[in-house]
Amino acid sequence: MSAARVYVGLGSNLASPTEQLRQAICALQALPRSQWVGVSGFYSSESLLPGQPRYTNAVAAFDTTLAPLALLDALQAIENAQGRVRSERWGPRTLDVDILIYGEQVIDQPRLKVPHEQLHLRPFVLYPLAELVPEHFVLADGRPLAALLQACPFQGLERLPTTR
Ligand code: ATP
Ligand code: MG
Ligand code: MG
Repeated sequence: MSAARVYVGLGSNLASPTEQLRQAICALQALPRSQWVGVSGFYSSESLLPGQPRYTNAVAAFDTTLAPLALLDALQAIENAQGRVRSERWGPRTLDVDILIYGEQVIDQPRLKVPHEQLHLRPFVLYPLAELVPEHFVLADGRPLAALLQACPFQGLERLPTTR
């Protein structure tokens, strides 16, 4: 099986978010059947729901031969290992790792929708993703990333100074 280039979105707004992302990156680098590619800069964004601390976000890329659902299991294990507690939807969390893109695949299953369904609405996903993909990148469902960026203002997003 040839490897798929995967992009995952990382987010944290509890328990030292920047550290959570660093730890998650180490865990992603250790994924089985996977080859690390790289990570975007870190960004700070307003929570989607009011009254929560700001989020730190980034996007990471790697190549993998893990099947999509096996990858989802592995990512959820990383979230759990970093103390993710699932209470209310979009509640504050130590770590969220979402599959944004899995190679050329469009997946519509109860447990997994790819490209990520909210991707086009989220500057904290689109702008870091744009740092990693080739120019003129087109999603598996035919949407050019440039068009999504144009429709999604940078507004409220802050690129953090690099300290890595
Ligand atoms: P959002 O999906 O809006 O970012 P969230 O990340 O907070 O919300 P979670 O609680 O992390 O949501 O995940 C809820 C469920 O979403 C997971 O159990 C998983 O089965 C499902 N899911 C569907 N598509 C994806 C995807 N592309 N990446 C990760 N999880 C997904
Ligand atoms: Mg999410
Ligand atoms: Mg999630």
